[in-house]
Amino acid sequence: MRILDTPSNIQLQSQHTATFHNDRLKDHRILREWAIFLRGRFDCFQAAEGNPFELDSSILSEDISKALLRLYRSPPKTLKHLIELKGRNGLGSCAVCGSLHNTQIDHYLPKDVFPEYAVLSKNLIPACNCNQAKWKNYKGTSTDERFINPHYDQFSHRRLLYVRFSNARREYGTWIAPSAKVELHIAKGTREHRIAEFHLRELLDRTKLSEWQAEQFRMLCQGGRRYLPGARSSMTSGQIKKEILTELRKADYQHGGSNNWRSIFFFSISRGRNFDFIWKNRASIFG
Ligand SMILES: [Zn+2]
Repeated sequence: MRILDTPSNIQLQSQHTATFHNDRLKDHRILREWAIFLRGRFDCFQAAEGNPFELDSSILSEDISKALLRLYRSPPKTLKHLIELKGRNGLGSCAVCGSLHNTQIDHYLPKDVFPEYAVLSKNLIPACNCNQAKWKNYKGTSTDERFINPHYDQFSHRRLLYVRFSNARREYGTWIAPSAKVELHIAKGTREHRIAEFHLRELLDRTKLSEWQAEQFRMLCQGGRRYLPGARSSMTSGQIKKEILTELRKADYQHGGSNNWRSIFFFSISRGRNFDFIWKNRASIFG
């Protein structure tokens, strides 16, 4: 859930052209034969911004499908962007779910359904393993029921999620993890809300996001200064909030964007009843 920087379309097109006309590749004959068709399909993808409701999968021969999947598995030097993506895991967070890892590349439109987009840069996303099962259901039944696309959905730079913590309590001196309900922080009835709702329901709710948030809240209660080193129980509520917002900005910077799990946590505790709870228990949390 973040916006990705990708090379310009012209750079990407030249990488694809150089690949499909590379006589040294094992599959060069079939790739050359399909080059114009594939270029057309890439243009369609670009025009539709990868929206699965506007793109049908093509009927490709088995030969070209296999050749494209082989290209994806062992990209030649000409597919620079793909090689760079495969070697890079320093993004700071998963572009799909916002967890603090990204260890693999995934396809926005699944490569088994859309083999023509197996090596298309704008279809590739650095992600964690949150996506193992999800791509089979890459769209819902009505328009806008699709996943957030980090290449095109500009709204994903905004804060999209809020976690409502409830029922945190202490038993025999130890804090118990609260329940954590992840909610959307976007105006209802909008296109963005419908997309994000699908993303939340079909993907985020199947990750460890809410358990992770609950555990962070428990640890915050247990030793608040580890999370907010500058906070003191003697501070005013405005000063404590300022400490939270400082950590929020750091998390945005370190993990890229505002929807990584750490930013979601700091954003959530900076507001509403979550903040009231921290304020009420400040003596024990920061003492
Ligand atoms: Zn993920």
